[in-house]
Amino acid sequence: MIWWRASGYEIRHGCIVPMVNATLTTYYPWEDWSKAPKRLRTSELTIAPLAKLLRDLDVWAAGLGGVQFELRQVDKLIDWVNANGLLGIALHRVEYVRLAARWRTLPAVGFMGHLTAPMHKWFRYGPEKWHTGSSFAATDSEYQSTFPLRINQSLDGKVVAEDVLVESSRGGLAEANSYPAIWAGQVSMHLSDVWGPFFPSLPREELDSYDYPEPTSEAFWRLYGEPLDEFLREANSLVQAVEQLAQEHRNPPADRLIGTSPAVHACQVLSELAGHTRPHLGMEKTDLKLRVNWSAPSLLAALAMTTINELSASDGNFIRVCEKCRSPFITGDARQLYCSKDCREVMVKRKQRAKHKLEDKK
Ligand SMILES: [Zn+2]
Repeated sequence: MIWWRASGYEIRHGCIVPMVNATLTTYYPWEDWSKAPKRLRTSELTIAPLAKLLRDLDVWAAGLGGVQFELRQVDKLIDWVNANGLLGIALHRVEYVRLAARWRTLPAVGFMGHLTAPMHKWFRYGPEKWHTGSSFAATDSEYQSTFPLRINQSLDGKVVAEDVLVESSRGGLAEANSYPAIWAGQVSMHLSDVWGPFFPSLPREELDSYDYPEPTSEAFWRLYGEPLDEFLREANSLVQAVEQLAQEHRNPPADRLIGTSPAVHACQVLSELAGHTRPHLGMEKTDLKLRVNWSAPSLLAALAMTTINELSASDGNFIRVCEKCRSPFITGDARQLYCSKDCREVMVKRKQRAKHKLEDKK
């Protein structure tokens, strides 16, 4: 799986967007993550930098899956996005997008020459990438009986007037994938509602009819941005799930009610976030070792899948969140509370100072 990142991001109108003159390049997130240094007994999770970022930004959960935050230390957020790209939330949430109908000129047929027809362009995710195609838009029966198709190439590319189309063919629509609980049960939605917030430079009135570029193309990433609150909300749900699991490891509940523990919920959240990732088993030509590569619709899903792999491979170890820097890590030592020597020393000094102060007061 490849992902895109711009050479520089900025925040415009509450949205993280690539800078106007930024260069866009691709990279392999899984390859980068596997190269990260892992310590022997303690291993930091891949999401650790994101978890620390949320702590620095002071993000906390509020209401139904929402977040509250104060907009400070934005440079740290930009650093993370510069290194990783955006989470790909707009791609994460949908599996099918049908653009508003436009007149398209069809290949010449016999004596009739070129015909122009109302067509929908569509994008569908699966099994491991976005596919593009087009289909005829359903036209109103009255219209069909008079002008089934037009011989008018000058219409090519223009939006089809709504009165020509049956209701279900009007505007752009998006179909949610099975994940997003925020739309509870809705399957098909207006494209303006689902994708609109992620394309901040487009005029509001064009959000339903816009001729969006193919997902994950360079043109797509140039237009694409992520509203701060959406970015933080999704990042927070991922980090929070790991924190809940760590909490469970730290203070195992005495009388466990199976199916009601917050840890069960955390597992569900991680599984849902990782949904639509797919393994690709391959054999290395040189050493015949079997290796699993993954593809994912979004960086968010890829991060969740990596976290699942890291946590499930930690059998017999403890999931911890550093009490100093909030970095999640795995350790074989149940007494370990800090991710590193540095964090432990800072906290030991802090506690000593607090103790001295208390003694001075006496
Ligand atoms: Zn730490």
